[in-house]
Amino acid sequence: MSTPFVSAASLSLHAAPPSPSATAQLQALQLSYGSRAVLDGLDWQLLPGQVVGLLGRNGAGKTTLLEALLGLREASAGTALLFGQPVAQLDDAARARIGYVPQQAELFEWLTAAQLLAYFRSFYSRWNAAKVEGLMSRWDIARDTPIAKLSGGQKQRLSIIRALAHEPDLLVLDEPVASLDPVGRRDFLRELVEQVIDRGTTVVFSTHILSDLERVAFNIAFLNQGRIALQAPLDELLETCRLVTGPSSALQALARQPGVQSLASQPLDGGRARGLLRFHHGVPALAAPLLSQAPTLEDLFMALTQ
Ligand code: ADP
Repeated sequence: MSTPFVSAASLSLHAAPPSPSATAQLQALQLSYGSRAVLDGLDWQLLPGQVVGLLGRNGAGKTTLLEALLGLREASAGTALLFGQPVAQLDDAARARIGYVPQQAELFEWLTAAQLLAYFRSFYSRWNAAKVEGLMSRWDIARDTPIAKLSGGQKQRLSIIRALAHEPDLLVLDEPVASLDPVGRRDFLRELVEQVIDRGTTVVFSTHILSDLERVAFNIAFLNQGRIALQAPLDELLETCRLVTGPSSALQALARQPGVQSLASQPLDGGRARGLLRFHHGVPALAAPLLSQAPTLEDLFMALTQ
């Protein structure tokens, strides 16, 4: 087995500077379970209207991060702002701007879908009843059956409708398609994103399934070792990144060129190495002994998450 990729330690230097208009702004966030740091000096920014797929391996800390972002889990250090307010002290108006679909949505199972939605409606001054009705029909959810009798996928869809109904400015979804069958996952996500995109809603959803992201997430954030290793539009990443193989010395020299960012590297036998490089000023034509190859999303995932 070959040695795995090692992500460049300096990646966070390339994080965007704090923006006062950011929907969410996390800085130097630290969160541990016992002695294990799950978030380890994490910086992250979500700008209005961004659709971000949060990608990381199982156990990387995606749920923990989303909970910390929403103030549901207290960080031991760092700052987390939502709509410019500290997440621990959000006022009611800011809370009403959030829609959240947790991994295991706790729906009141003895109620019917119609009763559940009526109950939640009473909490919000804004409620798009027409959208709710449209989605209930389109996503085929029985209104008058106890929720306990709905399938896992229908419950997940109902939970999403509940989170969309008050037209949030920030929609946070933790593995939103986990209960759906693989065939429908991506198309459903696509439709979900289309539902909010016209309003300029900021959307973040976590997944460890790469195919969920294709054609859905405009931005991809890689969570690795407690930090956001990289966030960028998927098509831009595929266009600007290359897997380059060759003598280590030639690779290192290339990585030192202006506008070239080394994202990860992997030593190979015989003094050779493979690097994931990002070319900010256009991809150059590389000559032997360097070999360059356009990465797939899976290559990026393998190199940027461990
Ligand atoms: P992901 O969503 O990426 O799968 P999680 O945020 O659920 O990751 O978990 C990150 C790590 O923290 C995992 O190793 C998990 O076992 C651990 N963990 C999560 N919640 C708790 C908890 N309440 N107490 C202790 N460890 C936890």
